Order: sequence, then C-alpha cells, then structure tokens
Amino acid sequence: MSSESRVAIVTGASSGIGRAIAVALGSLGWKIALGGRRADKLDETAGLVSENGGEAFPRTLDVTDAVSIDAFVTTVADVMGPVDVLVNNAGIAIPGPFWELAPEQLEREMRTNLLGPMLCARRVLGPMIQRGRGDVVFVSSDTARAPRPRMLGYSATKAGIEVAARALVMELEGTGVRATTVRVGPTLTDFASEWSSEQVDDLMSYWPKYGIQRHFNTLHPDDVARAVVYAVTSPPGVHVDLIEVQPEAPTEP
Ligand code: NDP
Repeated sequence: MSSESRVAIVTGASSGIGRAIAVALGSLGWKIALGGRRADKLDETAGLVSENGGEAFPRTLDVTDAVSIDAFVTTVADVMGPVDVLVNNAGIAIPGPFWELAPEQLEREMRTNLLGPMLCARRVLGPMIQRGRGDVVFVSSDTARAPRPRMLGYSATKAGIEVAARALVMELEGTGVRATTVRVGPTLTDFASEWSSEQVDDLMSYWPKYGIQRHFNTLHPDDVARAVVYAVTSPPGVHVDLIEVQPEAPTEP
C-alpha cells in the first residue's frame, strides 16, 4: 500500500480497462469512485476493489450528460473527500462505413469519447488547481495517430481528446496538476461485444490492407492499468505526458 491515500474517479469502471484501473488504484489503498451506467456491474467492480485493499464507491454516471457528471462529482467529493485523480476511461465505438452511420450514432460517439471526458475534466480541475495537486488521465487509442477506416467517428474522437489533453497540459503548467494521455492498442475486453461477428470478420480482413492490425495479439486490461498507475504515482516534479501501450507482436517460433 502506498503511504498516501488518494481519492480517484474512474469512469467506465463497470468493465474492461476501467475495472482493471479501479482495482489497480484500489490496491494502493486508495478510495475509488466507480462511474458507469450499469449499477450491477459497478457493484461487481466495487467487490474487487475492496478485496484488493481499496475503498470503493460505486455510483451511476452517464458521461454524455453534464447534469449526471455534476451530480456524480458532487456526491463523490461529499462522501470521499476532494478528488485527487480523474481517469477518463469510458468510451464506445460504432464501426461501419461512414456514410451508413446514423447521425445519432456519430453524436453518441462524440458525446461519450470527446465531450464527456472534457466535461468530467472541467468539473474536477478547479478544486485540484486550488489545492495545487491532481492528475487527470485520458484513456485514448492508437486510432488517434493511425486512424482506422470504418471507425472514422471513433478515430476522430480519440484524436480530438488527445489534442485537448495536449492543450490542457500547457494550460496546467505551473499549477501542480498533471494531464496524461494513455494511448492504448488492441485490448481484450467487451469493447466490441455489440459488434456482429460479420462486422468483426469484415474489419479484421479490411484493416491490414491499410497497415493496421497487422497481427492479432491483444493486451490484457491489467497491462493498461499498470501504465495509469505509473503515471499517477510518479512523484511531484515528474510529468508522464503520454504513454502508448501496445501488444507485443507474436514471437518467432
Ligand atoms: P468496455 O466496453 O469493456 O468498457 C467501456 C466502459 O465505458 C464500460 O464500463 C461502460 O460502462 C463505459 N461507458 C460507455 N458509455 C458510457 C457512458 N455514457 N457513461 C458512462 N460510462 C460509459 O471497453 P474497454 O474497457 O476496452 O474500453 C475502455 C476505454 O479504452 C475506452 O475509452 C476505449 O476507447 C479505450 N480503448 C480500448 C481498446 C480496446 O481494444 N479494448 C483499444 C484502445 C482504446 P456502462 O456500459 O456501464 O456505462
């Protein structure tokens, strides 16, 4: 357990990478506020956080809704104390030929992956700056630097959030508050669970033509969590600005 207990919010803590981040931060003995829409899944994560030495506070949160974000952060601060760390992890992807996507689908991606993390960050930053300490993490994707065709909206949201994070790093200089981008490659989670098997097969044969997804190894969510822990536990005076984590290519037989 680290000597200092901090209060951390993890959005999208009901599954996958967010759950792994919550458990990893909890194992430092920290208090972890778990945000997401599915209360039953948040409760499962809360059980894991507690088993691993953390204190969990599961609470429903919809990052597409500014009112929900405000209520969530207010309650977390009331119950757990001032927020030291925000991990903006919640995200979705809706694949398909761009011209076939409905306007509502594109809007949902933008609200979840781009506007949501910005609204969450702006909600916690004021008090962090006042206290002269804090960490805001943006879980991004390698699509930000290598956009994926048939995942155009998603790629645009991740590129957008990385630009916002870079600008924020500059705005925060001298405040003691750090912004970090954790850029993630393919990871085995429920992320594609709503895609049909035809969609998945189609993408796996389509992307390599563009030099993307050249092998099919994947990360475990814990691999991403380690990067987040490294960034937010780095001592004052160190700023981990950007980390990219990729699955290692298959080793030669
Ligand atoms: P999962 O689908 O397992 O997790 C996504 C999480 O986001 C869920 O906990 C979900 O919770 C939450 N979420 C979605 N919409 C909302 C919303 N409106 N409000 C609050 N929470 C929401 O996928 P991953 O763990 O893989 O994804 C986590 C992050 O990692 C995403 O930002 C994704 O873009 C990124 N990433 C993932 C990669 C991968 O290969 N898996 C690769 C690169 C980046 P709920 O449904 O309960 O609301």
